[in-house]
Amino acid sequence: MPPETNPAPAFDVVVVGAGPAGSAAALEAARAGLSVALLERGPYPGAKNVYGGVVYGRILDELVPGWWEHMPVQRWVTRRSTMLLTGSQALTVDFRAEDWGRPPYNGATAFRAELDGWLARLAEEAGAVLVPSTTATGLLRDTAGKVTGVRTDRPGGDLTGRVVIACDGVNSFLAKEAGLFAKVSGKQAEHTSLGVKETLALPREVVEERFGLSGRHGQDIEILGGTGGIPGGGFLYTNLESVSVGVVLSLTGLTASGVRPEAVLAGLKEHPAIAPLLRGAELKEYSAHLIPEGGYDTMPELVTDGMLVAGDAGAMCLAAGVWLEGVNYALGAGMYAGRAAAEAIAAGDTSRTGLAGYRRLLEESFVLADHRRLRRVPGLVFSDRVQRSYPGLLCDVAQGFFTVDNPRPKPGLRRLVSDAARRRGVRLRHLLSDAFTSARSFR
Ligand SMILES: Cc1cc2nc3c(=O)[nH]c(=O)nc-3n(C[C@H](O)[C@H](O)[C@H](O)COP(=O)(O)OP(=O)(O)OC[C@H]3O[C@@H](n4cnc5c(N)ncnc54)[C@H](O)[C@@H]3O)c2cc1C
Repeated sequence: MPPETNPAPAFDVVVVGAGPAGSAAALEAARAGLSVALLERGPYPGAKNVYGGVVYGRILDELVPGWWEHMPVQRWVTRRSTMLLTGSQALTVDFRAEDWGRPPYNGATAFRAELDGWLARLAEEAGAVLVPSTTATGLLRDTAGKVTGVRTDRPGGDLTGRVVIACDGVNSFLAKEAGLFAKVSGKQAEHTSLGVKETLALPREVVEERFGLSGRHGQDIEILGGTGGIPGGGFLYTNLESVSVGVVLSLTGLTASGVRPEAVLAGLKEHPAIAPLLRGAELKEYSAHLIPEGGYDTMPELVTDGMLVAGDAGAMCLAAGVWLEGVNYALGAGMYAGRAAAEAIAAGDTSRTGLAGYRRLLEESFVLADHRRLRRVPGLVFSDRVQRSYPGLLCDVAQGFFTVDNPRPKPGLRRLVSDAARRRGVRLRHLLSDAFTSARSFR
C-alpha cells in the first residue's frame, strides 16, 4: 500500500453516532492518542435513543475498569424472569441471585440519556471532540473510492478522517451508501423489529413491594406471547421509581396484522399477569425505535477501505429468546473498531486490508462468537410454532401439572405433553426438531 497522498485529514478518526458503539470507539481511539471527532445528530448523546433498559456490564470491565463506581444506574438486576403468556395463562421461570447485587454485578437498568451521556463524557475526557446536533449526510471518498470522511448537514461541514467508524445505528445510511449490505439477502423489513416502550412512574416502595425487591435490586422480565399473535415479545424492567414496559414486534408481522403497535402494548399491559404490576402507574414517556434482529446472517460487511461499521449499524443486536441485548455488543464492537483503527493508522494502512484486524478482534470475542453460535435462534424465536403454539403448549402442560383433578387419577407428563400438543396443533416431530435446533444452538 503506497503512503497516503491526500491532503492531511482534519481528524485521525471520525466516529458517526454517539450511542454505546460510537462512544466506545471514540474512547478507545482517543486513548490510543488519536485525534477523534464524535458526531451525534441529537442535541446530546442519548437524546433520541431507545432501548428496554438493561445493560450487561462484563465488556465494560475492559473498557472502563471499575465502571460500577461511576455508571449512572437505576437498579442492579438480581432477578431475571422469562414469562410465557397466552390470553389467560402465564408461566414464569424466575431466577434470583444475591451476588448479582454486589460488584462486579451482572446487569443493571439505566436510562439511555444518562448512560449515553456518561459514555460520551468518557470519550471526551480521553480527548475526543463531541460534535452534537450534527448529522452525517453522506460519505466522502477519494478517486480510488476509499472513504475519507463524511458530509454533514452543517454548511461547509465536510469532516475528513483517516478512518470513519459508522456507529449510526439501525438503518445505517453510511453502511448502505458504502454498499456493505449488498450481499445480505431479503428485504431489511424482514429482519427488523419495531420496539415500543412506555416508562411508567411508580413510587419506589411500590416498585420494591410488587417486584419483591429491596435496596437497589431490580428485576427484568422477558416475555414471549402477549403480542396478540404478532411475532415478537415483550419486556418489563424495573427502575428506581418507574418501570419500563414494551413490546418488540416483527415489522412484517405488524404490517400484516393492521394493528397499531400502541394497541399491542396496551393489550400486554392489560394481561392478568401484567396488569397488577402496573396498577396506578403514571405514563412518563412513550418511545419507539427499530431493532435489527435478524442476527449473524443479516450482518453487512463490516470493513471497507477507510471505514468500519459497529453496533446496530452492523446488525449486532441479539434477539435470542431469553436474551435481548445490543448495548453490550455495541460497546464491544465499538471498542474493537477504535482499537483496529488505531493499529491501522499506526501501520500507515487504512485500506480494507489494513483495517482487517477489526474482523479478527470481533471473531475472537463474544461479539461475533455469540452471533455465529446463535445464528439460527432469531429464526426459531420468530417462527410460527415458537410464537403461536409453544407458549400455549407449555402453559397447558403447567396448568395440567398444577391442576388437582380428584377423583380422577393424576395424568403423567407424557400424556400432558401429547394432549397439549394436539390441542395447540403441534406435531411431536416438529417439537423434537425445534428442541434439537435449540439444543444445537445453545449447547
Ligand atoms: C425497544 C428496545 C428495547 C431494547 N432493549 C435492550 C436492552 O434492554 N438491552 C440491550 O442491551 N439492548 C436493547 N436494545 C437494543 C439496543 O438499544 C441497541 O442494540 C443499542 O442501542 C445499539 O447501540 P448503537 O450505538 O449501535 O446504536 P444506537 O444506540 O442506536 O446509537 C446510534 C447513534 O447514532 C446517532 N446517529 C444516527 N444516524 C446519525 C447520523 N447520520 N449522524 C450523526 N449521528 C447519527 C443516533 O442519534 C444515536 O445516538 C433494545 C432496543 C429497542 C429499540
